[in-house]
Amino acid sequence: MNTSNPPSESGGCTDNEPGYRQVCWRCRRPIALCLCPEKPPMETATRIVLLMHPMEWKREKCNTGRLTTLNLANSEILPGLAFDDNPRYRELTRDPTKYCMLLYPGPAAYDLSAGAFPVAKLENRQLVVFLIDSTWACAKSILRASPALLDLPCVKFTPKVASRYVIKRQPKAEYLSTIEAVHELLLALEGAGVDTYPDKERLLASFYAMRDYQIECLESKPNPRWIGKPPPTQS
Ligand SMILES: [Zn+2]
Repeated sequence: MNTSNPPSESGGCTDNEPGYRQVCWRCRRPIALCLCPEKPPMETATRIVLLMHPMEWKREKCNTGRLTTLNLANSEILPGLAFDDNPRYRELTRDPTKYCMLLYPGPAAYDLSAGAFPVAKLENRQLVVFLIDSTWACAKSILRASPALLDLPCVKFTPKVASRYVIKRQPKAEYLSTIEAVHELLLALEGAGVDTYPDKERLLASFYAMRDYQIECLESKPNPRWIGKPPPTQS
């Protein structure tokens, strides 16, 4: 299913059936907690495509991938596990006007942080970067089910900061949430002279709003597993 950004009419919140919790159809959060951006989505030259694992697709309130695409005009989500035969994936990777890469730290990945990017290979084509939106364990199952993904040229970067995500603890400090990874990717692409990143605060501001609400919830209703242990700290 292609979930390209929906029309950017303000808010995007709709009333659901009476008796049900009202949910915003764009960010999939309760209307009172809607995180849809007030400003129109940001324009970038690069198209960002999130390959979203089904488990991530179900995580509605704390899904940073969805927040990412709400803020970027040139982005979309492809939910699934096996992408080699996904019609939209095939359309993008076979489009002669596009140069597709996978954000993945393989040994042959171009390291944007070291200034390595095959600018000459773009040949005036649009850069499309696929990101796997899942936990690292689930990313392995996507790669197993989509072996052709690793045939794409890979790109990587070294995050400038550790993950700011304190709720879903990342296995390593350098493992970022999806929205943080896209933010760092856009910074790196701008540094490489491949794109411009017009509003460098916006993705993180959206991310912080979601994270801060989660922290508030934890403080008002602590997870029983954490009782007697120090609270999570901000990195
Ligand atoms: Zn919303």
